[in-house]
Amino acid sequence: MEHKNYESWDIKRRCIIQKLRLAISEKDKLKGVYIKKYFFHCLNRKKNGTFIKIKLMGISFVNLNLGVKYGNEIITNILKQIKEIKPESIITKISGTNLCIYIEETKVEHVKDFIEKIFRITRNVSTSVSNVKISANIASITYKDDDFDVRDAVNKVDLSMFNAIRKGSNKYEIYNEMYESHINIRNIEKSIENNEITLYYQPKVDVKSGNIEGVEALIRWFSKDYGYITPDKLIGFAEHSGYIYKLGKWILKKTCIDIKELNKNLNKKLSLSVNISPYQLEHEEFLDEIKDIIEEVGFEQELLQLEITESKNIESIKDIQLILKEIRNTGIRVSIDDFGKGYNSIDYIKNYDVDEIKIDKSIVKYIGNNPLFIESLINMVHTTNTSVVAEGVEEKFEYEELQKMGCNLIQGYYCYRPMELKKLLELTKEA
Ligand code: C2E
Ligand code: CA
Ligand code: CA
Repeated sequence: MEHKNYESWDIKRRCIIQKLRLAISEKDKLKGVYIKKYFFHCLNRKKNGTFIKIKLMGISFVNLNLGVKYGNEIITNILKQIKEIKPESIITKISGTNLCIYIEETKVEHVKDFIEKIFRITRNVSTSVSNVKISANIASITYKDDDFDVRDAVNKVDLSMFNAIRKGSNKYEIYNEMYESHINIRNIEKSIENNEITLYYQPKVDVKSGNIEGVEALIRWFSKDYGYITPDKLIGFAEHSGYIYKLGKWILKKTCIDIKELNKNLNKKLSLSVNISPYQLEHEEFLDEIKDIIEEVGFEQELLQLEITESKNIESIKDIQLILKEIRNTGIRVSIDDFGKGYNSIDYIKNYDVDEIKIDKSIVKYIGNNPLFIESLINMVHTTNTSVVAEGVEEKFEYEELQKMGCNLIQGYYCYRPMELKKLLELTKEA
């Protein structure tokens, strides 16, 4: 019995010594940083906290130009500074350009604060290679109720990283409950490939001639697994996750191809209106990318119109007036969507040069109560040489009233519902 106890004590002792040795020997050459294996070994015992992944961009250029040693020095320096701002953090370098950090923090605001501090560090790195800057993308996940699971964390953080990278350089993404939903980037991309996500077109009718002047592209997601997912949900997710930029480019390209073919085959000149999220406008390369797409497709830019929703978001975009001006300078038209739904509608007429104003359907519904109000609104917009579209026109009397009031274009179920391209082709062929 005694012998057995002694034996088990000895095994325990040897285990402890081995672990201590492992802890000391397995620290990376980069000071204070554990090697991957030991880092994950430590995390296995954690109950809650935050797992953070940092992807450094630009290090590979440094390695190529000045050697791996210099690249490593940069990383060491970054790690040293991270340790200084959070000495209790556990850090590892999991590959040449990827770092992982564990912190005990569970408050989102504090995590964000820490991430911002990391960006401050990476932004200030000097590389000694001309024109090469270090940038980073950061993804994180927080576990609060004793449910920390390191494997789960690694998978989920990779998914968030995917989104962080799509948002652009020096952007971060915190894993949130939206990821648990079936509305996620993988499903969206799969659905685009399977044609479960597609674009419908709703005609805009010229009130004077009764002809179809153009169409508005509206995204549709008919999922085999989850049924119809509304554009609001899809676009809302895309905006929240940063995926809107990529999705927006796909929408623009697809719709330009569709309508170019239609115009070519039917010898028409239908205009194409595409909805643009304020988040897309904020992207530095937005206009250049649009120009590239138009050129690649060979779409007549005078026929393209970007619909921008009147919202608080758009006002918060710095230089919004300049962006709109630049768009219009290229020949592309700008339309203000959902006019009257927001707060500062009059400001748009006063301050922004746009080509079209779309009166929101909630205002159109008001026509029965106060037709004079709508008429004054149309007249006011016309004083700035801007065209007026009425949205959501469902009734004959609404159409007729708007016609009398001098509204330029009508869009709504009374004329046409949004339809797939095939139907639009048949419809416009007959006209
Ligand atoms: P929106 O740009 O204001 O689009 C008009 C919405 O009104 C569409 O809803 C359309 O189907 C609906 N509608 C058209 N005529 C009538 C009518 O007579 N009565 C009523 N009640 N509704 C009518 P939908 O397709 O569900 O789209 C909702 C919103 O989602 C759009 O509002 C737009 O903000 C956004 N969206 C749709 N497609 C895209 C897209 O490709 N990109 C972006 N960024 N947003 C999109
Ligand atoms: Ca619209
Ligand atoms: Ca609208």
